[in-house]
Amino acid sequence: MNDSVRVRFAPSPTGALHIGGGHTALFNWLWARHTGGRFILRIEDTDRERSTKEYEETIMSGMRWLGLDWDEGPDAGGDHGPYRQSERLHLYHEYADRLVEEGKAYREGEAVIFRTPQGVRLAFDDMVYGHIEMMSDTLKDTVLLKSDGMPTYNYAVVIDDHTMGISHVIRGEDHISNTPKQLLVYDALGWEYPVFAHLPMILGKDKKKLSKRHGATSVYEYRDMGYMPDAVFNFLALLGWSAGENNEIFSRDEAAELFELTRVTRRAAVFDMEKLNFINQEHLKRLDPYTRLDLVEPFWREMGLPVDSHSREYLAQSLVVLAGRGQTAKEAAGYSDYFLTFETVKGRYDASDVSEEHKELLRRFYGELLAVPEWKASVLEDFTREWSARESVKMKDIAMPLRMGITGMKVSPGIFEVAEHLGREETRKRLAFFGFVNA
Ligand code: GLU
Repeated sequence: MNDSVRVRFAPSPTGALHIGGGHTALFNWLWARHTGGRFILRIEDTDRERSTKEYEETIMSGMRWLGLDWDEGPDAGGDHGPYRQSERLHLYHEYADRLVEEGKAYREGEAVIFRTPQGVRLAFDDMVYGHIEMMSDTLKDTVLLKSDGMPTYNYAVVIDDHTMGISHVIRGEDHISNTPKQLLVYDALGWEYPVFAHLPMILGKDKKKLSKRHGATSVYEYRDMGYMPDAVFNFLALLGWSAGENNEIFSRDEAAELFELTRVTRRAAVFDMEKLNFINQEHLKRLDPYTRLDLVEPFWREMGLPVDSHSREYLAQSLVVLAGRGQTAKEAAGYSDYFLTFETVKGRYDASDVSEEHKELLRRFYGELLAVPEWKASVLEDFTREWSARESVKMKDIAMPLRMGITGMKVSPGIFEVAEHLGREETRKRLAFFGFVNA
């Protein structure tokens, strides 16, 4: 372990873990894991009205879902606790008293107000945004403790970051404007600044700040839509950082190894759903069939498909036949329903596009096809090719009704692979239903 790097994610438990929060947590995690430092979770629950235990739980489970484990936190413990601001009030009071004694703050009723010195240059070197400075003159006196005894954000954050030994403050760029106010508190207490690294903003495709208007904003909504945590992780890591050219698909460990704070860009990052879909599909493809099955199965169940009527081997093999189709587990489930049931196929196809005359031809062909000695995709395909050449019919004219009849879809994986996997009898049954084989 590297003792010199200690980073924190400091969410306010006033909502679920949203994309921006997940992004910040992830970059802190990457830096901790890259350096062998520690990743700390601190709950900033001083807004007593809006903070709840339920939100704290959802944030934590959202982080776990993304694979962001923390070394210290309200549940994990650690030597720098407590890890909830509501349990650290004594510290905020202790330092406020000291500032009042030293004349750097004053009381106004129950509240404690910071006396902002004028003519002071407040400067820091941000690891992402570079040198930033301003004069204190534009800042007014600010509240440290409110009359209800609760600290304000810009005060508590300094007390906590210092007393928790935070080395790097990595957070959203919307906090750059707060940083000078925090520097004042560091200065007043005679404390050294941590290193600051602000992360670029995340924008929707229309270049406006990411919000509900752009679609799902909470991390869990992506889970429910069938995205893999590994893919959401991979996607978020690429918002403002790159692992190098031609290295877009990576695991958490690979990202942690390659991550560099100095390579985070200042340019706002655009949240592009198509990119997420692409990344998710790449991760799905890399899974072994049984792991993929674990992801797809809940969606088949949600669709009401008879999952339990099939063996795990059969279901996993169905996903092998499906190959890389479907950008999400949910989409893959939708594309493969015909492996589990014939009912949905019937609902999609009625064979009314096939003339009686053509049906006559199909019956002749499928009758022979269903009798091939070995029920194997390559055999079925060779047979079909030869038959169509011999009879001078287009291959697609006899293969398309097969596809529609057994899958109910215009697009599917190799239809002979599908037929092989369904089996000779199931294929016969389905074709017979549409009047494509002689009874
Ligand atoms: N609770 C603050 C927030 O959620 C923390 C900001 C910080 O990291 O300093 O925005």
